[in-house]
Amino acid sequence: MFLTDVADKTEVIPLKLLVIGDAASGKTSLSFRYVTGGHRQSHILTAGVNFLVKRVEIEYNNRKIPIKATIWDTGGQERFRTLIPAFYQGGKAALILSDVTRPYTLENTETWFQRLREHAGDCPCLLVVNKIDLLEQRQVSDEEIAQHAEKLGIDYFYTSAITEQGVEETFLKLILEGYKYDQLLKTDKNKEEDA
Ligand code: GDP
Ligand code: MG
Repeated sequence: MFLTDVADKTEVIPLKLLVIGDAASGKTSLSFRYVTGGHRQSHILTAGVNFLVKRVEIEYNNRKIPIKATIWDTGGQERFRTLIPAFYQGGKAALILSDVTRPYTLENTETWFQRLREHAGDCPCLLVVNKIDLLEQRQVSDEEIAQHAEKLGIDYFYTSAITEQGVEETFLKLILEGYKYDQLLKTDKNKEEDA
């Protein structure tokens, strides 16, 4: 039994994930919803970086892989200035948020996408259209969203931090993409060392 225990001990993979996008698009609420399952009532504007930790097991190539995801959220500094490069550094996958009630937040995802490319290289990312519960206030159509995602060449998801719609699915995809990218970087590094 002791031997089995040892053999079963799989390494936990640390993954840094980024949540970016315009102020008040729901970055903190969505991250908080995913990590705790609860809704964060108040809107706290902090001028630092927030991060949350979530331990999760993913399945990849018929293997169960334990992940320790660290979800980095800009903590309000997106309002004041551009984010420091250290925020992006080592990020393995990113969510770029927009708010379905404010069309310019969708437009701005292009700028966020460029910043991500500048500071985090080829790190995979997903477009998130949040606040989908606000049906009456919705200002962007499915077509506009699809076109925008296509232009950036990335997948997109609809979410609500209130009803929890799409939250689990979006973060699971984010973690899976982050894991694959992390593995790819590690393989490339090993190849370099072998050469
Ligand atoms: P951040 O600046 O991107 O971190 O945005 P916050 O998470 O602080 O959210 C900004 C405001 O939008 C807050 O009042 C939230 O309660 C609200 N909010 C965030 N996500 C949703 C959502 O999915 N639906 C609705 N109706 N409100 C949301
Ligand atoms: Mg926030």
